[in-house]
Amino acid sequence: MIVLKKRFFKISCIVFFFIPLSVAAQDMAYPIQGDGIYSFLRRWNRLDSTYVREFVELNRDRLNAQGGLELGTVYLIPPLHPGDVYPPKPVTFSTFDPALFGSAYADVPKNSDKLKNACFYIESGHGGPDPGAVSNFDGIELHEDEYAYDIALRLARNLMAEGATVYMVIQDQNDGIRDDKFLNNNYDETCLGEPIPRGQLDRLKQRVNAVNKLYREDRKKFDYLRAIAIHVDSRNETEQIDVFFYHSDNPKSIALAKTMSDVFQQKYDQFQPWRGFQGVVGQRDLYVIRNYKPASILVEVGNIQNDFDRRRIILENNRQAMANWMTLGFIKDYENNLTK
Ligand SMILES: [Zn+2]
Repeated sequence: MIVLKKRFFKISCIVFFFIPLSVAAQDMAYPIQGDGIYSFLRRWNRLDSTYVREFVELNRDRLNAQGGLELGTVYLIPPLHPGDVYPPKPVTFSTFDPALFGSAYADVPKNSDKLKNACFYIESGHGGPDPGAVSNFDGIELHEDEYAYDIALRLARNLMAEGATVYMVIQDQNDGIRDDKFLNNNYDETCLGEPIPRGQLDRLKQRVNAVNKLYREDRKKFDYLRAIAIHVDSRNETEQIDVFFYHSDNPKSIALAKTMSDVFQQKYDQFQPWRGFQGVVGQRDLYVIRNYKPASILVEVGNIQNDFDRRRIILENNRQAMANWMTLGFIKDYENNLTK
């Protein structure tokens, strides 16, 4: 009898002391400026949509009339589900050093695991001795390869945040993601560390061989593998164009180009409805998409000679938006592949 009583006393002490402490220490927080329920929960690594329901349950009387968060109000954070952790595990970099993104962007946030079975080869056009298309803007020389590279880095970082394995085929150790209008021109990019040859065919062969060699092993590890080449077009300066998605005759390449184009169409309808989007999906016999072993597309993001198109590449928000939309396109294409 006495023994039992003692144990009961012990348990009640533990319950009394530990539960209130843990609630107070970890499970409540104030929102920050601009927070919605999703962004608040994401910061606490509660990514699943079921957390939103739990959050609303827990905080029903603390939400404002619109069901949103109020600054200065403390909110209960739903307990972690089994398998989830806080702080989140850092993204593992197996393919390149995140310093490539530059110091301001080297920490890659983890948004989800959506693409954890996916592998991407991101190739920015040209590089090394070849600047690609060149245009003059108020006496400043703009080089295609620098802009394509910046978009490629932003896309790589986005995909990693969704759990993907990513290769940057073309790399520049000095230039991370750059929030500038005018990106400095240089010639020291490499193809996975190797100097880029001068001749066009040698240059293309080098990157195709590099990707195909990686693909031989990667295809055993991933469900979904895709390559993307990013370019800026050069046409007559009067010609304003939309984003072009070129595919090969591979059905997976065709599906990806269409899905990407659909996402861009939706985004243009949302942000520039007066304008309309005439993004073009087309088959073209381009060396890289013909020879990459993983299904691939080649994107031309605008005409570097045209004033209007140029805004799409020189404004960093636009470069980020394009990377974001390409990310959405990849997620959609990946999900379409799962359901097949
Ligand atoms: Zn190009």
